[in-house]
Amino acid sequence: MAIIYDYFGGLYINLTNKCPNRCEFCIRNYTDALGDADSLVLDEDPTVEQVEDELKKWDMDEYNEVIFCGYGEPMERLPELLELAGHIKKKYGKPVRINTNGLADLIWEKETAPELEGIIDAVSVSMNEADAENYEALCHPRFGQGSYEAVIRYIEEVRKYVPQVAVSVVRGTLSQEALEKCRGKASELGVDFRVR
Ligand code: SF4
Repeated sequence: MAIIYDYFGGLYINLTNKCPNRCEFCIRNYTDALGDADSLVLDEDPTVEQVEDELKKWDMDEYNEVIFCGYGEPMERLPELLELAGHIKKKYGKPVRINTNGLADLIWEKETAPELEGIIDAVSVSMNEADAENYEALCHPRFGQGSYEAVIRYIEEVRKYVPQVAVSVVRGTLSQEALEKCRGKASELGVDFRVR
């Protein structure tokens, strides 16, 4: 069970396996292993102290940033994530990024973006599709209808509080037409666009 792992030269924290989505392309459907980790399947969510202890084992000089993203949605553990992000910036002086599905406000039933201000340097939000119907068919959000709209709203909000915001889609999971629509939406929203 890996709490921290290296993936293509990036340092990632695997904070939880909980996630409100069941994306058809989710890598969890195919393998437990990722990067240098044999398994990202957690017996239980790690505590803040466990993550801090694990961080000591890595040579931070080798990494430009620390990324919260594992086999689950890191914003499921927002309080712990924020505490750890503060620790990482203070102790190691590294920027912190979150890779998220953008459903934090539905998970926590409140506006969460303001809580990231001054702590999180970059957020990458999985837009995944160009409209609600196709998003729900691809990602099967447990919140059902309204999930896609919540993701778009989250992107609009989080860019007010976080310096670098990008949205992403997964190559091969949507039509070229939908991909271009997503690119256009990202441009309208004033955020970067990535195909991953
Ligand atoms: S949001 Fe991420 S972790 Fe959750 S099911 Fe989709 S790809 Fe997997």
